[in-house]
Amino acid sequence: MVIAGAHISSAGGLHNVPARAAAIGADGVQVFIQSARTWKPTAHKPEDLAVVRAARERGQVQYIACHAIYFINLATDEPDLLQKSRAALLNTIDVANAIAADGIVLHVGSHKGRGLDVTLPQIVRELQSALQHLDGPWLLLENSAGAGGTIGRDPVELARIINAVDHPRLGLCIDTCHAYVSGVDVTDPAQLDALVIELDTRVGIERLRCLHVNDAAAACGSNRDRHANVVQGEMGKGLAVTLSHPALTDLPMLLETPGAEGNGPDAAELTALRALHKQGLTRRAVKARRAP
Ligand SMILES: [Zn+2]
Ligand SMILES: [Zn+2]
Repeated sequence: MVIAGAHISSAGGLHNVPARAAAIGADGVQVFIQSARTWKPTAHKPEDLAVVRAARERGQVQYIACHAIYFINLATDEPDLLQKSRAALLNTIDVANAIAADGIVLHVGSHKGRGLDVTLPQIVRELQSALQHLDGPWLLLENSAGAGGTIGRDPVELARIINAVDHPRLGLCIDTCHAYVSGVDVTDPAQLDALVIELDTRVGIERLRCLHVNDAAAACGSNRDRHANVVQGEMGKGLAVTLSHPALTDLPMLLETPGAEGNGPDAAELTALRALHKQGLTRRAVKARRAP
């Protein structure tokens, strides 16, 4: 069974997350383990963490991703920012370990125009040291929308980092909106096939562990990170091409869409996601049967 999940608010404490997920029909969740607007780590109560862990172990929640804060920049040349980034990543790893999370989603950061070649050794060093603290989850690098010097505008750039780090639980999370606005039209079967084959050749497609499923409110190649509700953006029903790709169709799908009210993914979004996934599979099956 496919896992259809969503980013869920952890306001008021992480222990609220399993019930909020159940209320909208999400099988899996993504959470921020601290406020996305501050460096200051949240002091979680051990009993709150235990509630989430128990929900994951019982299978009430079938997938948990912890999204690291966006301030983190492992490619920075400012020592103070690097120090804070390191601490924030380690804190995320600690909480992810404690709640039996499956993945930690991380944006590597921005090289601010210096380029990946120059910053790669530092990124590799930082990731290798952070990975020593992982106890169960995978660390997943997410592709970016491609603005400025952000690293991972092309998922293949992330494959380069993964190869250089060489750790069995370092993988990828692909965001459909980010891929699209950074210029990879994943609603086009040929472009998607090319991406899947390239990733498989470089790091093995099994390192791709989850999808962020978002439609795009901005044009392909615009580098503008604007998520739209499922089927309501530029990608529309074409998103079914990604969801039903044979190499991707079993991956956990996590929504980060605004929802009807702008409060994040809701029950209608999850229903739309499941319907789109099914439509994609049906279309592929019909096509396969018609093929000579
Ligand atoms: Zn995302
Ligand atoms: Zn985004």
